[in-house]
Amino acid sequence: MSGNNAAIQTPSFAALGLGQPLQDAAAALGWHTPTPIQTQVLPAILHGRDVQAQAPTGAGKTGAFLLPLLQRALLTPGLAQDRPRRLLLLVLAPTRELAVQTGLAAQALAPALKTVVAVGGLSINPQLMALRGGAHLLVATPGRLLDLARHNALRLDGLGALVLDEADRLLDGAFADETRQALALLPADRQTLLFSATWPTAVQALAQLAQHDALRVTVEGTPEAAALIAQRAIVVDSARRTALLKHLLATQGWRNALVFVATQHATDHVSAKLRQAGVVAAALHGQLSQGRRAKVLAGLRSGDIKALVATDLAARGLDVPQLAAVVNYDLPRAADDHIHRIGRTGRAGATGVAVSLVLADAPGSEAHFRLLEKRQALRVPREVLPGFEPAGGLPEPLPADPDGGVKGRRKSKKDKLREAAQAVKSSG
Ligand code: AMP
Repeated sequence: MSGNNAAIQTPSFAALGLGQPLQDAAAALGWHTPTPIQTQVLPAILHGRDVQAQAPTGAGKTGAFLLPLLQRALLTPGLAQDRPRRLLLLVLAPTRELAVQTGLAAQALAPALKTVVAVGGLSINPQLMALRGGAHLLVATPGRLLDLARHNALRLDGLGALVLDEADRLLDGAFADETRQALALLPADRQTLLFSATWPTAVQALAQLAQHDALRVTVEGTPEAAALIAQRAIVVDSARRTALLKHLLATQGWRNALVFVATQHATDHVSAKLRQAGVVAAALHGQLSQGRRAKVLAGLRSGDIKALVATDLAARGLDVPQLAAVVNYDLPRAADDHIHRIGRTGRAGATGVAVSLVLADAPGSEAHFRLLEKRQALRVPREVLPGFEPAGGLPEPLPADPDGGVKGRRKSKKDKLREAAQAVKSSG
């Protein structure tokens, strides 16, 4: 994860206060130097301080909380004799996948501690069995934690630390109540760490409720992750374009999206349509007051605004936060605009997506997108989504790539030699 430069500038795990056993365990996982988030939070967590970190997925946040918390847990007096084991650490995670991953990392880093993962959607009995005799670390979804508490399967009095992982997702819809109920079960005298990719008002309120004098850390994405942008091109009729946009926002699970349109009028029109459909959306164009712009951007940054509909001009030069998706509702005029637009997603190891809507019934749309592809030296497969099929069928099929390249690959010297050899053969 860290390049050579980072290795030179980054302090070692040892310098951050991590002891030899966890340094060795981290090295066994291939973690030799701390990531930026780990560098920023490790010392504070080792000192027992509350921390709130806004960090994108993939930044190394699991290590950022597990390494120091496991070190503290391993130093608990009387740990070896403690029966039934007291729960020392609780990690609340929004999804089964995240909980399982975190549990596996904890087991690998501190095999001397007993770790149990308990998530909903699975039978509770094996989880109850696993908790017999207690556990030192529990990774759970909030709902399942409540179930376990109802079964009297938890010993919470010794809880030293709580992690709220992906807190914004822990507060999504129905989860919010369960998360708050789970919090109410826990002893107040504990260390609390809160990690979240976005910082909406609901997360701020949770931090206020659960934390005390927390260190606040924000980690931005790294530019090299720009390569993680997946590009898609969806062919649709102009009349169905807004419906398709609503459909994408509803079904793709994007945390937020920046939607590019060609004109100021369109920013208002499209954002109004989205709001009518229940999407929290706002327009960004040149005529907005400074105050309004700042408010809109803060909303997008915090996650309160899901879709921002903007023109290139309005978005240029602005510090737009990390985005899950960029949508070309209108294709950009120039390839440079396209690169600029899509560079706003896919940061910090998170895979971003850039979706271009190619109009089946607008002459020139397909040809224009082909030009954009050519400038990037790549091919994006055309997609048609069920329910949004163009009435007149697809635009004419793509001709064979005149350069004979494969998906964005320029002809290599070898290719050219091979072609030349072929040409000589067939002419002979
Ligand atoms: P996370 O943000 O916790 O999901 O971690 C993202 C990825 O980074 C995981 O594959 C980790 O194994 C990896 N990782 C975490 N810490 C480090 C580190 N210090 N050095 C290298 N890779 C790491």
